Amino acid sequence: MKRKCEFCGNEIEEDETFCKGCGNPIKDSKEVKEAVIDNKKNTSNFITIIIIILLIAIIIGGFFLIK
Ligand SMILES: [Zn+2]
Repeated sequence: MKRKCEFCGNEIEEDETFCKGCGNPIKDSKEVKEAVIDNKKNTSNFITIIIIILLIAIIIGGFFLIK
């Protein structure tokens, strides 16, 4: 099934990840979807690290307040 580029309307083959007409990445392609999933994983890891750092800061802060 052929699709059209959302940027320039050029026809795109199923296995293409970039538009031949304008060079933009094709959002429906597998490679782009995998890249998006990877970005989400990286973001959740980053948030987890921040939460852990905040928890450590709270624990250390509480320790000094009790003293
Ligand atoms: Zn295009």
